[in-house]
Amino acid sequence: MGFTCGIVGLPNVGKSTIFNALTSAKAAAENFPFCTIEPNTGAVPVPDERLYKLAELAESAKIIPTQVTFVDIAGLIKGASQGEGLGNQFLGHIRSVDAIAHVVRCFADDNVIHVSGSVDPLRDIEIIETELLLSDVDTLQKHIQRAEKAAKAGDKDIKLSLETLLALDKHLGQGKPAREFIIPEGQEIALTAYRQLLTSKPLMYVSNVNEADLASAANPSGSRPVDKVAAYAAAKGTKMVMISGKVEAELAELGAEDRKAYLEELKMPYSGLDRMALAGYELLGLVTFFTVGPKEAHAWTTAKGSKAPQAAGKIHTDFEKGFIRAEVISYQDYVDAGSEVKVKERGKLRVEGKEYHVQDGDVVHFRFNV
Ligand code: GDP
Repeated sequence: MGFTCGIVGLPNVGKSTIFNALTSAKAAAENFPFCTIEPNTGAVPVPDERLYKLAELAESAKIIPTQVTFVDIAGLIKGASQGEGLGNQFLGHIRSVDAIAHVVRCFADDNVIHVSGSVDPLRDIEIIETELLLSDVDTLQKHIQRAEKAAKAGDKDIKLSLETLLALDKHLGQGKPAREFIIPEGQEIALTAYRQLLTSKPLMYVSNVNEADLASAANPSGSRPVDKVAAYAAAKGTKMVMISGKVEAELAELGAEDRKAYLEELKMPYSGLDRMALAGYELLGLVTFFTVGPKEAHAWTTAKGSKAPQAAGKIHTDFEKGFIRAEVISYQDYVDAGSEVKVKERGKLRVEGKEYHVQDGDVVHFRFNV
């Protein structure tokens, strides 16, 4: 359920601080403590006020939000793709995540050594992105060699895929990440290779700033380190989340009430971790739908454009296999009516079939047959 987001960045930029805040913030969401799955993996609920509202209306006994699983991926340093530091160990970890959160240091603190000697987030971004790119060049070469062998046997599809992979190799050679390259439809072999590439993953930047910097939003034409990252992210068409590792660590220590008060003092509706979860959600183009009843109010995640049976499959494979129809109420209609019974009285419950594209905020009952 949900999706996974790998946290990468140079050493000493605050990855562990952010990650530890995530896994120790037991008080963060009292109803749904997240869990540490493995030492470097933790799950955090995606904040969604609609879920609480629905739970309140339906008097649901339990509330189950969707989750983002964060993975702390250590060991990326200059030369990592050539075996420096922990070398290529990080590759497998990154390969298994859906999206990447690249943490960069924007905070000044003389007591914390910077591996490159000074605070310069754009230089740091380049170091990490070069390592990921170099590692992709290697990976792609292996796929190209395999495709070349197979192409000799004369399959037309393989030849097309091979051409695409060679074009992709040229693209990477120009220092551009794979995510800026589009694989033509129908080229399954090229697509499989593409998905193995680290730079094909959606990526967002997380600027770890001084506490004082949190107060004013990043300004892409400003001169602070965080402003430069904001401008860079905008140029790349991606997101940047501003966070203070120090503040997150403090928030993690607080109970729900104190935490809320502290966030209000900071003029923040959500903690940095919550904002990372939300940004990741948007980055991947996900939509949320709900199943709601007296037993539980449950938020589910599916890809934008999912058809009803595919969304049903997120709940249970039987729901997908035996799909008959979906009974759908849009969130706003549910809230306006105040209850499912009233929604029906108003004729606002829709019956949708296999071709229906599930919309963000849909409240759904799936009918199925096994
Ligand atoms: P990692 O190597 O990227 O995992 O970095 P760490 O999380 O271990 O952080 C490295 C050092 O920076 C630690 O001493 C942290 O306490 C410190 N640090 C992390 N975030 C902040 C921050 O927002 N402000 C300040 N001043 N120090 C921080």
